[in-house]
Amino acid sequence: MTGSRESSTDRLDYDVIIIGAGLSGMYQLYRLRELGLKVRVFETGTGVGGTWYWNRYPGARFDSESYSYGYSFSKELLQEWEWSEHFAGQPETLRYCNFVADKFDLRRDIQFESRVASAIYQDATRSWAITLDNGTRHSCRFLVTAIGPLSTPTLPRVEGIERFKGQSFHTARWPKEKVDFAGKRVAVIGTGATGIQTIQTIASEVGHLTVFQRTANWAAPLHNGKIDAETQAKIKAGYGEIFRRCQETFACFVHTPDPRGAFEVSDAEREAFYEKLYGERGFGIWQGNFKDILIDRKANATISDFVARKIRERVRDPVVADRLIPKNHGFGTRRLPLETFYYEVYNRDNVDLIDISETPIERITPEGIKTSEREFAFDIIIYATGFDAITGSFDKIDFRGANGALLKDKWRRGPETYLGLMVDGFPNMMMLMGPHTALGNIPRSIEYSVDWVTGLITFATERGLTFLDATPAGTAAWTDHVKALGVGLLSNEVNSWMTGINSNVEGKQTRIVARYSGSAPAYRAKCDEVAANGYDELRLA
Ligand code: NAP
Repeated sequence: MTGSRESSTDRLDYDVIIIGAGLSGMYQLYRLRELGLKVRVFETGTGVGGTWYWNRYPGARFDSESYSYGYSFSKELLQEWEWSEHFAGQPETLRYCNFVADKFDLRRDIQFESRVASAIYQDATRSWAITLDNGTRHSCRFLVTAIGPLSTPTLPRVEGIERFKGQSFHTARWPKEKVDFAGKRVAVIGTGATGIQTIQTIASEVGHLTVFQRTANWAAPLHNGKIDAETQAKIKAGYGEIFRRCQETFACFVHTPDPRGAFEVSDAEREAFYEKLYGERGFGIWQGNFKDILIDRKANATISDFVARKIRERVRDPVVADRLIPKNHGFGTRRLPLETFYYEVYNRDNVDLIDISETPIERITPEGIKTSEREFAFDIIIYATGFDAITGSFDKIDFRGANGALLKDKWRRGPETYLGLMVDGFPNMMMLMGPHTALGNIPRSIEYSVDWVTGLITFATERGLTFLDATPAGTAAWTDHVKALGVGLLSNEVNSWMTGINSNVEGKQTRIVARYSGSAPAYRAKCDEVAANGYDELRLA
């Protein structure tokens, strides 16, 4: 497609370096290779897949419909690959990632077990110098970060974690070998989407399970199931329609908000609608609910009350049921975990729920966990305690832009970006799924962002441009726009990874607007417009 790279990049090792071989990095590699560019991917893990490589914890699976989650860019791939379940489990998704890597021969440009320690912009040569943690250096014209919004796991900041004598795991650093739970006394700390999937999966395998819950989360049924042959055929024939729909919806899921407000219908109609949503697969109850449940407290209270009643119906002990019902945030104002008989787990004789908002964990002991109330002995402790989200993976790499400016400094008061794709003062660096970008059904957003970045790099190589930078005004305008979009959303008034809160990371106790919360179509329209105007909002040289 282009043939102009020879002159500008001759003395550099690569045209483009991509950090990370998850879904973003793999597709970016594929697209840039199509342009005939010399590309290298550095990946910390020993294999491809990113999230699906690291998160091997029991029960890890999609919350988006499998057929809306896979890559859409290759018709051949869509026909060759068959998802076995409506919401595929992690082993299947990891197999899918490997299948893609094999099919497109991606591995020959991916260097595994290679963690990027620093990325330093070289003003004199308009290039990036990348240093791996083994000390090797690599240079490139363009740098693409594909490091994931949820890829830096965090452990509780409590004393004694290293002294525990049993086995302990963070869910996102789960071993490749099978963990034997039979007869074991197991603790799970954390009840987010990950904790819920883990708990519901291991409860029947363990000897005894103790769940340490700090904040109750709303969850709704996943209603997973196998995909039968007839449905499989329909899916394969209907991919065009499925992806067209994802392009049109607010967050790229197959679900989209109901155009009615919660009070535009009668009480009976509302109840029937909630009942229907509660009985349907996937995120419909969150993404396909009345249009005002995530912005209007009273509307939100109607669905929160409905789901609270469901929890009370499903959990036999009313005290435990009450503990499982969130009191400090409304339904769907945090990322909704989807569950499969999660609440029924608490009806089992071998499961206890400890509310650590009442009796906090004081320390991990060699034998187990000490709360303010008592000591517990365990064979296994599972930390389902989440991630230093969105900016955490950037913080771990020493990014320095023009004139040695530190990205960490620039983002000290929260991220500042241009379209969630670039940062002024960090020329030739593009971010995939970084802050301020549309997340939603992630692969759909990934494909869009990768295509946009590919378009920009094509534009630059065709014209021999060696310098692309966002402007301070462009960055300020986008950052203000993203903040303005967040005003009025109930989710922005709640502590969660989506508002940049992580009690386990110093300096992450103040809410920020870290993600774009407008509609995906509006996001794409803005980015498309910039491209159509010859990227005239950028500084180009
Ligand atoms: P999370 O939502 O941040 O949940 C972490 C949990 O650990 C929370 O219950 C939190 O309590 C608790 N916790 C953290 N530090 C603690 C401490 N020091 N002491 C006690 N409890 C502590 O993390 P996650 O569950 O890993 O999920 C993160 C995101 O990953 C999800 O929202 C979702 O976007 C994604 N995910 C997706 C899937 C899927 O697609 N199927 C599955 C899993 C995860 P507090 O609430 O009190 O902070």
